[in-house]
Amino acid sequence: MAFVITSPCMHEQAADCVDVCPVDCIEKGPDQFFIDPSRCIECGMCEVVCPIGAIYQDFEVPEEEQTSVSRAKEFFFSS
Ligand code: SF4
Ligand code: SF4
Repeated sequence: MAFVITSPCMHEQAADCVDVCPVDCIEKGPDQFFIDPSRCIECGMCEVVCPIGAIYQDFEVPEEEQTSVSRAKEFFFSS
């Protein structure tokens, strides 16, 4: 279980989330930021500071944003 950054991040990317994450598990990808699901401790700090509400707990990610869940896994686990 982890928090997930969804596609609206592509148009913002101010990285407020990176500054507050206590375990440094948020990284910049090719077009948006991603949270490493294996390191996220579910503190919720990133969700609070994201100015556009692009971050959700994985079980609350909207249906149309489910690709964000798989994209985060691919980003961290496919290399
Ligand atoms: S704070 Fe939100 S919009 Fe900004 S980089 Fe993080 S997830 Fe993306
Ligand atoms: S929930 Fe906490 S640990 Fe997980 S990405 Fe957000 S700030 Fe980092």
